[in-house]
Parts: sequence; structure tokens; C-alpha cells
Amino acid sequence: MAGHMTPEEFRQYGRQVVDRIADYLAGVEQYPVRSAVRPGDVRAQLPASPPERGEPYDDVLADLDRVLLPGVTHWQHPNFFAYFPSNTSGPSILGDLLSAGLGVQGMVWATSPAATELETVVVDWLAELLDLPAHFRTDSRGGGVIQDSASSAALVAVLAALHRASGGKVGADGITGRYTMYVSSQTHSSLEKAGRIAGLGAANVRSVDVDPETLEMNPAHLRALIEQDVAAGATPALVCATIGTTSTTAVDPVRAIGEICREHGIWLHVDAAYAGVAAVCPELRWINDGVAEYADSYATNPHKWLLTNFDCGVLWVADRRPLIDALSILPEYLRNPASESGQVIDYRDWQVPLGRRFRALKLWSVIRWYGAEGLREHIRTGVALAQELAALVAADPDFELRQHHPFGLVCFRPLRTDALELMERVNSSGQLYLTHTKIGDEVWLRMAIGSPATTSAHVATAWETLQTAGKRISPGRR
Ligand SMILES: *Cc1c(COP(=O)(O)O)cnc(C)c1O
Repeated sequence: MAGHMTPEEFRQYGRQVVDRIADYLAGVEQYPVRSAVRPGDVRAQLPASPPERGEPYDDVLADLDRVLLPGVTHWQHPNFFAYFPSNTSGPSILGDLLSAGLGVQGMVWATSPAATELETVVVDWLAELLDLPAHFRTDSRGGGVIQDSASSAALVAVLAALHRASGGKVGADGITGRYTMYVSSQTHSSLEKAGRIAGLGAANVRSVDVDPETLEMNPAHLRALIEQDVAAGATPALVCATIGTTSTTAVDPVRAIGEICREHGIWLHVDAAYAGVAAVCPELRWINDGVAEYADSYATNPHKWLLTNFDCGVLWVADRRPLIDALSILPEYLRNPASESGQVIDYRDWQVPLGRRFRALKLWSVIRWYGAEGLREHIRTGVALAQELAALVAADPDFELRQHHPFGLVCFRPLRTDALELMERVNSSGQLYLTHTKIGDEVWLRMAIGSPATTSAHVATAWETLQTAGKRISPGRR
């Protein structure tokens, strides 16, 4: 062995790998959904030290089957209902493969003009597909950028907001004085993390009350907290409203929240990581009410429910200036005529790392393959299956259904058995995989539908499995 893989060898193994992926996705149903390995099982089967001499690629593929696949949880399984979906699709995989093949590092325009310009086109396309406001498009004051995740998008939004709130002082002098940001108990943990990373201090990430029924942020309490903080000398920097919370897909009242932000000059970040892509369907565009008027930034993840494999999160801003001003540093070794001409975009100034993958390729492949029509069809199928599941739950007196389920997530709880015990029983059976959340003191089960492989029959069978498992657990335990 040793030496580089020749083009012929690459062709040979590449074909094998593509065949394996095709076989895997076609036959994914044969695997237990959740991996049953115990901690350390996978590692124990792998050598502690790397090989001194190169090994045949066949051996790598053999270990994939023998060691790794048993330790894989099958996110593309039609009975994967845990967390939120993390879709992949043929065109997405091919786009990512092309990105790996080109091996581009697109940190600035000049390091690969096509990587930057395709990204611009694709984020503008997506803004159009989701009917987001024109000022999020690149030909206006705003623009979009592909990030690795909604967490990064949140961090970048917090940094831009701090920059704006401090008139640039934070970047120059560090945080002097007290800056606050506002989330709710239902906001994704990445916002608090962003606040900590940005140096605000966890105590300055203020938690706004939610409506106990709907779990939506309470605008009156937001206003009260802001006024209290301002009176105490703090500078409110950012409010995060969520469209489709991680726990139950609650939709915060963006318009009411936005009006308060406008009055106080506070940055409004809208986190629509999971649900935002649903706006490809006109009938679901109500979710974005208030975004056009009030949002300074908006994030959604095509890598959740829009057929694009992880990682691909898109962030749009209404005004790119504070973002770029907050993050741009120009060392000599990156100076180049194109950047200096001001005629090009350097997306390195729109994110935390310098380096960037050519992620636009996979999103472009997906949008071209499916078209708006195909993307709408995918979302509609997920929504329709969730409605079917909700009807099954509602018809069973042993379960309570949460009435809010406009997307692919349905939450319910067993009334006669312990929810966590029921969940563990079905999850360890390998037949399906679901996760839970807590509302107040109650444990609720979450079933998130959204895999392109899931059909009506899968949903019905999954529900029967849950019902049967519930009956087997001794009654009266809760
Ligand atoms: C999933 C999710 C996130 C985090 O997404 P990453 O891309 O994994 O960082 C943030 N916010 C909400 C509402 C989510 O559902």
C-alpha cells in the first residue's frame, strides 16, 4: 500500500461507496432505529493506535459494516421520530460529495468566486421560496449566509446586536456596563450559550414568562423586564423570538414582540430553526407574521426538514452592516484586490470561523432537483402524516393529545402508564425512536414526523406499537 489513491482506485471505491449509500438508504428499515450499543462498545473494537502502514480501503469498508453500523442510530429510518428530523436526500448527498471533491475553502470571494456567488444565489432563492421580505435579499441592505448551524447563527446575531447596541464599543473596548438579552424558558439553549460566549454573562440572559397553555412568550412580561433593566442602567441588546420551539413547536407572537423591540431599538432575532422551512407552503406562511416588519435576523435550518443533509443553516439579516462591522478583521495575508474593490462579498465576515465549506452546492442541488413544487410536497406530506397521528392519539382515551401540531411534531402523554417507561420500552425495541419533553412537571412524548421515507403505514404501525407497549406496562403507574 502507501501512496496516494489513484484516480482508478478512487473510481473503483467511489462506485462502491455510492452503491453502499444507495443500498443503505433503500434498506434502512431493516435496522433497529436506535443503536443498541453500550458506552465504549464501538471504541473497544477499534485499535487504540493508528496504522503504521497504509491499509486497503476494503478493510475500512469492512469495519464500517462490522464495527460502525451497529453503533449508528438511523436518522433516515422511516420510524425515526426523535428530536427533529435531519433529512438527507440523493441530490443533497451528491452536492456534498461534489463539495468534498472540489475541496474548496471558500473563506473569501477570491479563494473561489463560484463558492461565494452560488451561495448568494441560493440564499436569495431560499428567501424567495419562503416568501421572506425583500430586504433579506443580497441586492438590498441585508442578505443571507449559510452557517453550520442555528447555534452559530444565534451567536453571530448576538454579536451583531451587541455591536449595534454599543455603537461599536464592545468590539473595541470589550463589554463595559451591562448588556441584556431576552429569551423564554422555551427558547433553544443555543441562545443562552451565545450570550455566554459573547460575554454577556448568564445572569443577563433574561427569561421572559410564557403563556402556561400555549408556551408562547408573554410580550407584557418582556416589556416589564426591559423597562426594569433599562431603569437599572442596562442596555438591552437582543430579543429572540422562536417560530416552532424545540420542545413543542410553539410559535412566539413575533409581531407583538417586534413592536416592543422597535420602541426600544432592540435587535430582534427570529429562531425558526426547525419550522421556518415550512413557509415553502403558502398555507403555512402565517408563521412569519411580523418578520417582514420587525426581524433584524432570521435563521432556519434546511438540514432539519428540507432534505439537505447536516450541516446547512441559513441566517438572513435585514442590514448586513452591523454584522460585518462586528466580525470583520483584515489581516495583511487576506488582502486582495477583489475584496478591496468592495464589489464582492466575503462571507468570512458573516460567521465565526474564517474557513468555509462549499455548502451552497448541496442546497443548490436540492432546490434544483425538487423545485418549489417538490419541496412543498415534502413539507405537506410531513404535516399530513402528523395530522393522521394526532387523530389516532385523539381517538385513544388512554392518551392525552396536545392540541398544537401545525408542523410535523405531535406531543402526547399516556394517562395510565409512566411516559418515560413507555418511551424506553418502545425505543429499546428498536422498532421506533421517539423523545420526550417536560411541560411544567408533566412528561410529554414527542413524535416528529418528517423523514422522506415515512408513510401513513409507518405512522399507524408506530402508533399501534405504542398502544400495545402501554397496555403491557402495569396499569396505575404514572
Ligand atoms: C434545532 C434547533 C436549534 C439548534 O439547531 P443547530 O443547527 O443544531 O444549532 C435552534 N433552535 C431551535 C428552535 C431548534 O429547534
